[in-house]
Amino acid sequence: MKSSVNVAVIGGGIIGASTAFYLSQLGSKVTVFEKDEPASGASGHSFAWINAFNKFPRSYHDLNHDSMERWGRFERTLNQDIGLKWGGNVTFAIDSKSGDKLYQDVNRLQKWGYPSRLITQKELLELEPSLEIPEFHSAAYTWSEGHVMPGKVIQACLNRIVENGGNVMLHSPVDAISEDGSGVSVLSEGQVHKFDVAVVAAGINSSKLCESYGVKLPQRVSPGVVVKTNSIPQILRSLSVLQILNGAGRIEQIHVRQDADGVVMIGTGSQEHETTDDSPEHANSLIEEAARYITRLKNVSPVIVPVGFRPMPIDELPVIGCTPKAPNIYVLLMHSGVTLAPLVAELAAMEIVENTEVEILSNYRPTRF
Ligand SMILES: Cc1cc2nc3c(=O)[nH]c(=O)nc-3n(C[C@H](O)[C@H](O)[C@H](O)COP(=O)(O)OP(=O)(O)OC[C@H]3O[C@@H](n4cnc5c(N)ncnc54)[C@H](O)[C@@H]3O)c2cc1C
Repeated sequence: MKSSVNVAVIGGGIIGASTAFYLSQLGSKVTVFEKDEPASGASGHSFAWINAFNKFPRSYHDLNHDSMERWGRFERTLNQDIGLKWGGNVTFAIDSKSGDKLYQDVNRLQKWGYPSRLITQKELLELEPSLEIPEFHSAAYTWSEGHVMPGKVIQACLNRIVENGGNVMLHSPVDAISEDGSGVSVLSEGQVHKFDVAVVAAGINSSKLCESYGVKLPQRVSPGVVVKTNSIPQILRSLSVLQILNGAGRIEQIHVRQDADGVVMIGTGSQEHETTDDSPEHANSLIEEAARYITRLKNVSPVIVPVGFRPMPIDELPVIGCTPKAPNIYVLLMHSGVTLAPLVAELAAMEIVENTEVEILSNYRPTRF
């Protein structure tokens, strides 16, 4: 890696935009290539829950936890409204099977030093008095978690990149990248652009771009759907996320949150749950299920959101860094990219500009494939 760099960042999702922002803060000349509009990939489909609740192994949990702690500083450095809301998550389990599992989760999280405890129905009602809560087996409160609006984060990063003297090229697809002794060439719309370094943060399209310079980046297809509503009055007073585990319900698990603009988002299963069902029937059934606990959701109609695709490395762990074949092409591919953006962006920018290797990223190098 060279320092004092002229960098191309391919992808205007949360990972590309935040990395380009930190690069520009460190003095790099940055050009962002985005094939469509900002946030048109996974970042625009995300539930955007900032958490390390169910992340394994321990080192990956720690990486996510470290990044959660960086969100506040990231927000202050951007100095713009990014829809960041803290308040924590409560997961409550109605049946004993998921309740026992929740007990074990809290036990593990506490041992790992993650803010978490079991709470009673009375305590949950103190946090959220308007909830309709049935008898439950157990509830876990993880109070350091939050959520954010990825579209706002990306726009804030792009604004700051331009203020720092960088370029943002929208509707500019990159078709291929290559590297030789003279630097990195980025081919976009028939034109070759020369840079010292390129960062590939093109989400699910990153594997194809890596193939163009002969590097393997195996991914799994991981579709997901987050149901949205129009803006409605506040449904949760203090929590940022509510999760319900209901082994006996029609839908086993749902997670709900409301963003700063009043839009409610509901997902089924865990954050990694895979589905392609973006039908209005599915959306209505999720809203109905959530309305059993949050009465303000009764008779609310969904806004139809098409299925989104998570960038998902084949071993589900982040891919961060270069390969010997192309030492100046830096790849960033990951799930949980919303949680991880502040850490990954800051550390990747530091590795690129300072020509250093950050030890906590060593498990995630692309050379493992
Ligand atoms: C349903 C769902 C729920 C999720 N929930 C959570 C959650 O609760 N918490 C969490 O932390 N994470 C969550 N995630 C994961 C998280 O959203 C992603 O990890 C993150 O958005 C990835 O960001 P990215 O910038 O890497 O990719 P993307 O957002 O996909 O951005 C890639 C960008 O590159 C552009 N691009 C692609 N090819 C090219 C090209 N050839 N040239 C130029 N530009 C190109 C695309 O248009 C896109 O804008 C969820 C994801 C989904 C789909």
